[in-house]
Amino acid sequence: MSEEQQGCNHDCEHCANKTETCEADLRFAEEQKLIKHKIVVLSGKGGVGKSTMAVNLAYGLAARGFKVGLVDVDLHGPSIPTMLGIKDSTVYARDERLLPVECDGIDVMSVEFFLPDKDAAVVWRGPMKYSAIKQFLQETYWGELDYLVVDCPPGTGDEPLGVCQMLQGEKHALVVTTPQEVSAADVRKSLDFCRLLPLPVLGVVENMSGFVCPHCGEVTYIFKQGGGEKLAEKAKVPFLAKIPIEPGVGASSDEGKPFMKAIPGSVAAKAFAAVVDAAAKL
Ligand code: ADP
Repeated sequence: MSEEQQGCNHDCEHCANKTETCEADLRFAEEQKLIKHKIVVLSGKGGVGKSTMAVNLAYGLAARGFKVGLVDVDLHGPSIPTMLGIKDSTVYARDERLLPVECDGIDVMSVEFFLPDKDAAVVWRGPMKYSAIKQFLQETYWGELDYLVVDCPPGTGDEPLGVCQMLQGEKHALVVTTPQEVSAADVRKSLDFCRLLPLPVLGVVENMSGFVCPHCGEVTYIFKQGGGEKLAEKAKVPFLAKIPIEPGVGASSDEGKPFMKAIPGSVAAKAFAAVVDAAAKL
């Protein structure tokens, strides 16, 4: 990766090669001090509910009075705007900086706002992705925030790596899995990614942990239990919550509402409060 891609680490006052990139990096470094906590939502596998958790974490924190930003860097499959009912929003700019879209007290940025055709595929290689992430983090006007939640695509590729390299200061990972071994096996790699960077882990969430019957409320364990707990125990990181499959969770996402808002009394919302508690205590 070139120096320009990585960002300049020179002390620009004394740097003979002072460039616009240096200026932008210095400004970014200063601006990042205005964001108290950064939480990167990771998973080894797609479809485990990572974006759902990211939206609800952002909503749960905003509902407790925190100032929250949410960045969707799932560039090939952005779903945050749909899950918040804002996919047709327009992004405005001020002083050549992008202004996030506000929704439910959350400042949101996603590649989906820039796609003229929502069904169009984003066919980008690493440098293009890196530059989009840079725009969302560095060229967006975030101002003062208590939390910036970043929803990454599954795996340990360009996007999570780019995000973790760009974000300075205090940052944590929230790792999402489902109970099955096929998900846990991939999520172990996400935990190893955190160990290598290093990126402290706020905790592991096991989503789709049992099914809540919409008629009687009984929980049936369709998959085996305990995958997330075992993962967390082995990696010596906190296990935060088991979120069941609940029809209202999927329905509220499709309707553009966080389940913490749409169905606050549900088993899922009550269980998810533990994740918000853990983040709020950072
Ligand atoms: P990922 O970001 O990991 O690809 P998503 O958050 O997009 O996964 O979730 C995939 C689908 O599963 C979405 O339609 C979402 O609404 C649904 N979903 C996620 N978690 C639950 C749950 N606990 N109960 C019911 N549906 C869920």
